[in-house]
Amino acid sequence: MRSLNFPQHKENMKGKKWWEEPVRMMREDFAPDFSAIGKLDLERVARSRKNDWKINCEWIVGTIPFDGKGYQTTFRADGYEIYPGFEHFDYLRTYTPIAHRYGIRIISYLNMHFFDYEFARKHPDWEQILDTGEPYGKVHPLYGKGTTLCINSPWREWAFGLIREAMKTGIDGIFLDGPLVYPGCCYCPWCRKKFYAEFGQEIPFENWKDPLWKKFLKFREDSLVSFLSGARDAALQINGDAVVFLNAGSWHPSEWRTGVSMEKLAPLENFCGAEAFFHYGAAQNIYSALMTGKYLTAYGKPSIVFSHFMSGRWHYLFLPEGELKLAVSQTASSGANPWIAFVHKALETNPAAHIPVKSVFSALDRNKSILSGTGRIADIAILFSERTGKLWLSKWDEFNAPISARAEQSLSIDTRAEEINNWHAKKALAEEFLGKSLAGYFHILVRNHFLFDIILDRDLNFEKLSKYKTVILPDAACLNQQEICAIDRYLENGGSIFASFEAGMYDEEGNFSTSFLDFCGIRNVDGMFQQFLGENYIHFEKKFLSFSKGAMIERAGHALKVLSSGNDTYGRFLKPLDRFYAPLPDVSEYPAFILHKRGKGVVAYCAEALGCFYEETGMISAEKRVTEILKYLLKKPRLITRAPKSISIELFQTIDGRICVHLANNAVDRRPVNEFLPSRDVEFTLLCDFQPKTATSLIENTRVKSRICRRT
Ligand SMILES: [Zn+2]
Repeated sequence: MRSLNFPQHKENMKGKKWWEEPVRMMREDFAPDFSAIGKLDLERVARSRKNDWKINCEWIVGTIPFDGKGYQTTFRADGYEIYPGFEHFDYLRTYTPIAHRYGIRIISYLNMHFFDYEFARKHPDWEQILDTGEPYGKVHPLYGKGTTLCINSPWREWAFGLIREAMKTGIDGIFLDGPLVYPGCCYCPWCRKKFYAEFGQEIPFENWKDPLWKKFLKFREDSLVSFLSGARDAALQINGDAVVFLNAGSWHPSEWRTGVSMEKLAPLENFCGAEAFFHYGAAQNIYSALMTGKYLTAYGKPSIVFSHFMSGRWHYLFLPEGELKLAVSQTASSGANPWIAFVHKALETNPAAHIPVKSVFSALDRNKSILSGTGRIADIAILFSERTGKLWLSKWDEFNAPISARAEQSLSIDTRAEEINNWHAKKALAEEFLGKSLAGYFHILVRNHFLFDIILDRDLNFEKLSKYKTVILPDAACLNQQEICAIDRYLENGGSIFASFEAGMYDEEGNFSTSFLDFCGIRNVDGMFQQFLGENYIHFEKKFLSFSKGAMIERAGHALKVLSSGNDTYGRFLKPLDRFYAPLPDVSEYPAFILHKRGKGVVAYCAEALGCFYEETGMISAEKRVTEILKYLLKKPRLITRAPKSISIELFQTIDGRICVHLANNAVDRRPVNEFLPSRDVEFTLLCDFQPKTATSLIENTRVKSRICRRT
């Protein structure tokens, strides 16, 4: 493991701004009467924040988040409407200096997306408009009673003026909630005029074969970038150190629907922040906070995972303590900063809610010198492609016509084909598939203790790729020629790629491309098997890793019919079945797996969508083949573990050369988390190129049992 260049690094640390150091954020809202804060002893409030909650950055409401009152302020702002109760109490100007005395930075929350109909009626050309010509809020009442305004309309200047007024109060920065281009928007007169001026045509309707539609997607992104840039300029006009950020951009492939391009927005933000809230009644990703944090840190900016502390839809109560601990410990182990929020009213039911927060935040505070300026150690990179999320649609009709099967019940299983035939639904299906693919691979990597980074489209260059032994291109990826050249050079120099299903088979516009087939040892793609989850198999004609000759394993629902350009194939798909309890068919000519050498490197290609398959089913044989293939490609991983799969392990190198190991116990009884199940016998071996001295537990501040072996 290479050591960092310490003297230079320390020099850089000296010039660090407060937002580049570890932060612990909190927001307490005083709904339904936000002016209730004015009746509290603010000195006592700030002291409690510091001593009881252990935060060093607090969000305070500048405009109202509830009830569509995003246009009413809690502070004196010339030209803007004050929220009733704040006429004689300027929240921002009064509380900020008190908080500063306790070492707490102040970020003001500005609601930039939720306005009631009354306010919208006063500015009829500010609302976002759907392609039907109807206002967004008329068709989709926001939170049941509101609408949203357009970033290309004169509302833009209204918002920038508000930002300037907020910064005049002495706060440290602003958080913009919203502003977005809502799904299906915006066809307002301002957007139409701006689009026409740029492209000489009217805004098109959704059609993924129309190049103008893809230009409109870019137009939406660029409009949001322009808004954030203007907002940032407005804040910096008043305070040259102002912190500005918004809550856009998690890893999910549907982010394009709100005009979000994190690759474009992140450079304009001080923090990259995204939500990883717990929701009752929905299928829960156990690694939600870890995945969000690792994704956000890929942008190289200080990051925040918004994990809430409100009880899902029951906003006037707290989440169970277990959910808080799960979210915050995963967030910290991802290298991101934690953030919690709650409504003051909840303290009446649970006045001791700060105790679990204090225990975790205290540990982070005690160890802030170690957590500051660390870099993750990784053998593997996995691509989370924004471009693919935005543009990818499978070219195969079978992708949009799955045969679904209900669970066997009362001696029958009902199977039926469901063809999806409109653009909106096709794109939604593609996004759902990609989301499962990323989550599936992420879970396999975490559960099997691989050291990995998430990388972005912009990271597909030789310099970045050469930091990793293996790069995973998950079930679909759109690559441009420059990126393919970078991968080629990476392979020539001994790197390895793990690719599956349609990875690399689409270009930067989302069109099918054969440029990458040769890399995977594919001569031709004959098509896609009928999509059917169940009763389809892979047969091994010879031994492959731990799969013995003659063995059969489960095939994913999504699988391609590819032909190999060589004889480096392992396992073949059986001819397809689209029903249950039918005789087993013969083996087809289509390989399940190709191992293709290129330069000094190697590409392992699987013709099935393994990430999606694992996420949908938890199939042990799918996890096993991904894990075994990755171990084969890595040859000598830096971390060897003997630990339960439910323990997640993240490694960082600190600025003073230490290795910081984050262990998080994700073994829980169920969701919401009532209790953590004890995990014992956690052992791991770490290969270092320096001589370690001791191993210390940072939580207990005790020595950990360790043994140092010298190897050559
Ligand atoms: Zn508009």
